Amino acid sequence: MQMKEILDYIRPNIRNLVPYSTARDEYKGEVGIFLDANENPYDNGVNRYPDPMQKRVRNLISELKNVDKERIFIGNGSDEAIDLCFRIFCEPGKSSAIAVSPSYGMYKVAAAVNDVEVREVLLNEDFSLPVDRLLAAADDTTRLMFVCSPNNPTGNAFPMEQLQELAESFNGILIVDEAYVDFSEKGSLLPVLESYSNLIVLQTLSKAWGMAGLRTGLAFASEQIISYFNRVKYPYNINVTAQRKAEEMLRRDISAQISRIKSERRRLQEALAGCRAVERVFPSDANFLLMRVKDAKKLYSQLLQAKVIVRDRSSQPMCSECLRVTVGTPEENERMLDIVKKYIP
Ligand SMILES: *Cc1c(COP(=O)(O)O)cnc(C)c1O
Repeated sequence: MQMKEILDYIRPNIRNLVPYSTARDEYKGEVGIFLDANENPYDNGVNRYPDPMQKRVRNLISELKNVDKERIFIGNGSDEAIDLCFRIFCEPGKSSAIAVSPSYGMYKVAAAVNDVEVREVLLNEDFSLPVDRLLAAADDTTRLMFVCSPNNPTGNAFPMEQLQELAESFNGILIVDEAYVDFSEKGSLLPVLESYSNLIVLQTLSKAWGMAGLRTGLAFASEQIISYFNRVKYPYNINVTAQRKAEEMLRRDISAQISRIKSERRRLQEALAGCRAVERVFPSDANFLLMRVKDAKKLYSQLLQAKVIVRDRSSQPMCSECLRVTVGTPEENERMLDIVKKYIP
């Protein structure tokens, strides 16, 4: 396997970027008399600027994921990492990106903001990954390819071998969004990260880790790619409170909660499949279920009337009459099931 020359994919102005140097970048010690950053000296918990490199949180993630800390970027949500991919690798008005469809909406929005054309490649009919069509969609302008696995909203994870084949064969940067990987039995690409210089794996603390409110997304890649993420990001992108809270919460054991969500997913899958108005519940490797129902709009409003809010995905390609339901607590799921059971289309 030939390692790809990543520098060739980096936008020329970014290649030569001299990043902002913060006061905290220059002095690395933790104790001292800090008269370098024009802060208010009176301690109130947030009077100091945060660590721009999030050393403590990154160390924890490094241990948890068994990935070198130089290969970890922490962003203000995965959204920041997605946006940075466009800003680092794409030239506005010139470059293109490829994304599977249906999938997460942010890839397209970030592309549009950065004036980058997105070529959407439909999944195969059974929601499997169209490897050949994805590769065939690329040309000289193509810098990025987004694949979400387990995929949102279809819920299925793609086989590791196919994702590796894409990384190997795609002449650009492959971004695999593993936001839901903690709910999947099919594993993560992180153990093979070092084999692919053009691979970025996205994860997040928003789902299994229960920190959606903190806005903390993770990107894993080569040290070289991560160094560009860190050069282009806002210097203090993760605030003091988020760093402290993430550090505290990353020390918890979430495995029991994940098992509970997975067993509820199984229970819901069966119960929903047994409802008259439900035509199909798609298999899920995530913490949500996609189901095709009779008259999605009507069921959606009946759920809404009972203050049960789900996502109508009917407007998405291949998702006609489909609702996406997050696995909640057993009580919440029961409330939702009750309404679906009684629903007459
Ligand atoms: C929820 C989700 C994320 C997480 O986004 P954050 O900005 O980290 O909260 C990322 N990718 C996909 C596909 C998601 O569904």
